Amino acid sequence: MQMQKRLLMPEQLPQERIKNFNEVALGYTDDQAIAEAKRCLQCKKAPCMAGCPVEIDIPGFIELVAERKFPEALTILREKNNLPAICGRVCPQETQCEIVCTLKKKSEPVAIGRLERFVADWGRKNRRQTTERKEQRAEGRPRAAVIGAGPAGLTCAGDLARMSWKVTIFESLHAPGGVLRYGIPEFRMPRDVLDYEIEYVKNLGVEIKTNIIIGRTITIEELFDAGYKAVFIGTGAGFPYFLGIPGENYNGVYSANEFLTRANLMKAYRFPEYDTPIKIGVKVAVVGAGNVAMDSARVARRLGAKKVCIIYRRSRSEMPARAEEIHHAEEEGIELDLLTLPIEIIGDEKGWVKQVKCLKMKLGEPDDTGRRRPLPIDGSEYLVDIDTVVIAIGQGPNPLLLSMTPGLKLTRKGNIVADNITGETSLEGVYAGGDIVTGAATVIEAMGAGKRAARAIDNSVNSKHKARNTKQY
Ligand SMILES: Cc1cc2nc3c(=O)[nH]c(=O)nc-3n(C[C@H](O)[C@H](O)[C@H](O)COP(=O)(O)OP(=O)(O)OC[C@H]3O[C@@H](n4cnc5c(N)ncnc54)[C@H](O)[C@@H]3O)c2cc1C
Ligand code: SF4
Repeated sequence: MQMQKRLLMPEQLPQERIKNFNEVALGYTDDQAIAEAKRCLQCKKAPCMAGCPVEIDIPGFIELVAERKFPEALTILREKNNLPAICGRVCPQETQCEIVCTLKKKSEPVAIGRLERFVADWGRKNRRQTTERKEQRAEGRPRAAVIGAGPAGLTCAGDLARMSWKVTIFESLHAPGGVLRYGIPEFRMPRDVLDYEIEYVKNLGVEIKTNIIIGRTITIEELFDAGYKAVFIGTGAGFPYFLGIPGENYNGVYSANEFLTRANLMKAYRFPEYDTPIKIGVKVAVVGAGNVAMDSARVARRLGAKKVCIIYRRSRSEMPARAEEIHHAEEEGIELDLLTLPIEIIGDEKGWVKQVKCLKMKLGEPDDTGRRRPLPIDGSEYLVDIDTVVIAIGQGPNPLLLSMTPGLKLTRKGNIVADNITGETSLEGVYAGGDIVTGAATVIEAMGAGKRAARAIDNSVNSKHKARNTKQY
């Protein structure tokens, strides 16, 4: 039998979208979503569910979409996921739920992510998911402090609020969202969608206090003194790594973090309406090949760069970015300079970037990451004319809070040591999850960690409560 192919999602055309910051993928219509949902085989053991870190009943919500029961499908999604419109847009479904979909063996997997996005968007457009505020229920219940309003913190806080905790999130920036706001660009993560999802978390009863740096404004110890019974750390990995090559101090060299924060959070692309300028020139080189690199390259293109290239030392099959992002970047004219290593940035007499010196590479035997090790080809050096260099080779943990929290055990790289399942750290009552524990990873992994920690926090207080009751009798 001929299997039906998955439905493509309508998108802005590349030649149009490189001139704006509007969302690229436009979402399914009702009929497209129903047709795609009907491809699902409704497998009894549903392997897709095992691939979902936040435990969504995937066949359950898809069946309801197929029956045009969108409100019911939304209820199923929201039971487990506080941020479905976000996951439906940025999750790497191709390596999570979709990779194990039964249909993949014979044809293409069900477009689980696109259906999740469809249902969440349907709810937003029809204002069908605003929950009642739950402060009342939280009266007399224990209080939890969550540090960081990224996907890990928002999920942990939302789930604790559902379990009737009184939760406050402390966020160092002036707006919540973490990387979803300051890193991922609008054309992948529209801010009205993000704001709506955060509003949902607030409506669960979560209070969000911004402009507070835990470790500087208040310490974790002071949070416990103030009556919080548990603390969850979800501070992410916002500290950029550099290459350590000569010339990285020239004007025109940005870390991806600074470049994207200027463009996204400070709306540099709307200078002078917004007062943070961003100068990129005509030729931009982005070093790295993950999602952060793709975002930087695509932002540079939209800011007017005529030539944007990704410089990556391995080959295409080792590129860590989502396949869809690489595809979109190439459609937008981004060049891939593979098996290439930048070894020096050369500046002009005024201190601005002028050229990048590169070396060609070949792949050797696999290293400890299992990927083939890139090796330099002798005598292959060459120069490329470049105005701006964006370094997107990864981020580590910001050491501020960690250095101010005595007794918190850290890994060699400076990440927090936390239990895989519960998120418990070396300090009693302190839990952690997301990029601060794993190093730079994914939105859904951060959300999964927030969810598991919320469960562990609730269990721990309940068991202490039970133990106290037992002692009394
Ligand atoms: C440009 C870019 C693109 C990406 N694209 C994707 C993608 O397509 N798909 C995907 O799945 N993942 C993607 N990722 C990775 C993903 O965004 C992260 O894995 C995820 O956001 C981690 O969530 P988190 O909650 O742990 O941390 P974050 O999102 O980093 O949130 C941490 C929050 O804590 C706050 N904070 C830090 N220190 C303190 C403090 N001391 N006190 C108070 N608040 C503090 C920060 O301001 C921030 O708001 C991308 C990352 C980047 C940078
Ligand atoms: S594995 Fe694929 S086909 Fe089976 S239930 Fe999940 S989404 Fe449907």
